[in-house]
Order: sequence, then structure tokens, then C-alpha cells
Amino acid sequence: MSILWTATPNWSAQGLLEIGGLLLYLFYYLFYFFRLLKLNWVGAGPHLLRPIGGVPPGPFVKMKKLELEKSLTYENVFESIAGGRFKKNVPLKNYTSFRVGGRAKYFLEAKTIEELIKAILAARKFGLPFFILGKGTNLLVPDKGFNGLVLVFGDDSFKVMSNRIFAKAGISLAKLVKISEQESLGGLEWAAGIPGTLGGAIVGNAGAQSGSIADLIEEVEVLEIGSFVRIAKYTNKDCLFGYRTSVFKRAILGGNEKEKMVVLSASLRFKKEKRKKIRQKINKFLKYRLAAQPLKAYSAGSVFKNFYGRIRDKNLVRKFEELGSFNEKGIIPAGFLIEKSGLKGRQIGRAKISEKHANFIVNLGGAKAGDILRLIRLAKRKVKNNFGVSLKEEIIILK
Ligand SMILES: Cc1cc2nc3c(=O)[nH]c(=O)nc-3n(C[C@H](O)[C@H](O)[C@H](O)COP(=O)(O)OP(=O)(O)OC[C@H]3O[C@@H](n4cnc5c(N)ncnc54)[C@H](O)[C@@H]3O)c2cc1C
Repeated sequence: MSILWTATPNWSAQGLLEIGGLLLYLFYYLFYFFRLLKLNWVGAGPHLLRPIGGVPPGPFVKMKKLELEKSLTYENVFESIAGGRFKKNVPLKNYTSFRVGGRAKYFLEAKTIEELIKAILAARKFGLPFFILGKGTNLLVPDKGFNGLVLVFGDDSFKVMSNRIFAKAGISLAKLVKISEQESLGGLEWAAGIPGTLGGAIVGNAGAQSGSIADLIEEVEVLEIGSFVRIAKYTNKDCLFGYRTSVFKRAILGGNEKEKMVVLSASLRFKKEKRKKIRQKINKFLKYRLAAQPLKAYSAGSVFKNFYGRIRDKNLVRKFEELGSFNEKGIIPAGFLIEKSGLKGRQIGRAKISEKHANFIVNLGGAKAGDILRLIRLAKRKVKNNFGVSLKEEIIILK
């Protein structure tokens, strides 16, 4: 039997070996202990607060001071947080690219993470539902509006470090594209012409052609609002990115008021590239967009996701020759299915399925969210009947 440790230190060669062995064991267990902690970071175990790159993680320590006095009303509290940036009864159509939708009971623009956290804590304390709004370019707000607090996170600060950009969620994709070009950082050219914020892009894993935001994301700083509120750092893998989806979008669609996630900031990794080459790619993407999409009309971009799969029906394959190459790729564009269902140009009220791109619904001016919803239902029904495909919305419909 070998003795690992004796009361009197044994400095012989064998004794030193034993001590060394013991230290190795200790190190080994500590290593595994911390790995276990790390594995549990997302969703379950203890979350360590770490700043992402140059972006400070937010005022977690100060949160203790945010105890609210019971006598205060929502309005006092929200006003004390954001002053004039807190408003009541705000028409949300002014904040969405569809230009439709009713009013928000309360509306608050947070300039900092601290303000955002304070507002969320207050909303929770008062049992008031809240919703995070980016630039409203992938969103349909119902005509009845939102009977709660709409929060905009307006921090668009950023920092460039070598081939990385650390940016707050409120930065627009347009600004990010511009910065990356200026800094000779390639990889985001496909985003030229996509409106919206980085936060919204991460939630929906925005993308075009062959690129998507998931390809660049290294880490995301997330405010988790569950049984308690904490800031956590998600790796790219933790974000569970998929085609126009993420762990954040799934949570939104899940609709659980008690478990929410807010994207605060992210670090994006680029490839060094010649500016001229980046500009050429941007121009190519913009040209394609201008030619293919109704960019001057009020819309929310593509309403439906493309269908990942094949249509085997021989009659349909014979009738629509494009199906051959779509089937080969395993992706059938939603716009194709809607167009071939005879719906291009179909109008309900003041909303219309675009003549230019059948996956866009445009507001001709004065449309109701209800008109758009009716067109959505019509497109789903017709495509299902004609092609057997169940279209899924890419846009988020606020409940
Ligand atoms: C003309 C046009 C073209 C478009 N082309 C494309 C395209 O090619 N590819 C593409 O992918 N999209 C496209 N879009 C859709 C849209 O621009 C993107 O999806 C964009 O990334 C949405 O960002 P947003 O800030 O507007 O998000 P919003 O529409 O404001 O919000 C979308 C969802 O994300 C949530 N959200 C927003 N910010 C946060 C946050 N910080 N934390 C947690 N949740 C948040 C909101 O609650 C909401 O559920 C297009 C839209 C238009 C109008």
C-alpha cells in the first residue's frame, strides 16, 4: 500500500514523488470541477460574470440598489429611470418597417444596460409584460397593440480590436457593415441593405445569400430573466443558431413570460480583407437586393422561411421546371411557392403580396395588421393545398 501523505514530511525522492502525485490529483479534480461549472453556464448552473472583450458586462453589483419603493407607481419608476425617454400610449407603427400596429401602453428607450436592467426589474416587480424592440424590421405588431412595456435598447457603441468588433445590441447592421468596410474586415458584406439592429439579427440569425450572422458571432452577452436576473456569456454554440433562428428566437416564440433573454452585446470575428474587395462584394449584394426586392415599400422583408426539403410529386415537377434545380439543392424558395400559387399581387385591404417578390407583403399605406395577417393565412393555405408544404413565418408576430 502506498502512503500518499504522512504527518511528518518525507523529503526522500519517493516522498517528493508522492507529494507531486497528490498535487497532480488535486489539479486534475479542480480542472474537472471548473469544466463542469462551465458546462452548466447556460441555462442551469452558476453564471460567472465576465466582460466580453472590451464591452463591460453591466452593473450587476449595483442591482442590489434597485429595490423599488412600494408606494411608487410604474410611471414614477420608469420616468425616474429614463426621464423623457419614457412615454405612454405610443403608436408602434412608427417603430416598425411595416408601419402597422396599435399602441404600446408604455414605451421606454434605454440608453445603457443599467437602464435596461432597471426597467426590466421594475416591469417584473409590477407584473407588467415587456417586449424588446430592435428596429422593428422583422416584426408584425397587431392592431390591438401591446398592453405592457416596449423596451428599446438604444446603445450602439462598439470597439474594434484587430479582426474583432465588440458591439452593443442596439447598433444597426448598416453601421456594422460600414465599420467593417472601413476597418478592412470581411465577412459581413451580405448584410448590406438589411435593416435592423445587431440584437435583432442575432435573435433571427439574419442572413442572405450564403452568409448569416452566426458565421461571425464568437460570443453573446445575454441578460437572462428567469427566477432571478443575471448576465451570462453565450458561446456561438450556446446560441443554437439555425436557419433564421436561435435559442433567443425559440424563447420568444415559446412565449414564456417568466423566462426571457435579452441580447446585450456580442463579439464578432472577421477575416482581414482588402477594402476594395469588400466594397465590390457590398455593391454586388446591394445591386441584387435592389433588383429583386421592393425596398421602397413598407415591409418586414421575407415573411416566410424558405422550405428546406424536396417536392417529389411528379405532376408538380413536370409542371414547374424550376423545381428540378430547387430539389437538387434541397431548398424551395417560399417566394416561388407563393408566386406559383397565383398570389403575386393579391391585395387585402391596403396590404399586398408584392409583384416584385412574392415572399414580401407590402403596406400600400394605411394597411391594418389584420390585412397582413389575412394575406399570411391565405398564402399558407394555398401553398399547402398546391404543394403540400407548410410555410413557417420568418417574421415575429407580436402576441
Ligand atoms: C426590406 C427588408 C429586407 C430584409 N432583408 C433581410 C434579409 O435579407 N435577411 C434577413 O435575415 N432579414 C432581412 N430582413 C428582416 C430584418 O431586417 C432582420 O431580421 C433584422 O435583423 C431584424 O432586426 P430588428 O432590430 O429590426 O429586430 P426587430 O424586428 O425589432 O425584432 C425582431 C425580434 O427580435 C427581438 N429582439 C430584437 N432585439 C433584441 C434584443 N436585443 N434582445 C432580445 N430580443 C431582441 C424582438 O423582440 C423581436 O421578437 C429584412 C427586412 C426588410 C424590411
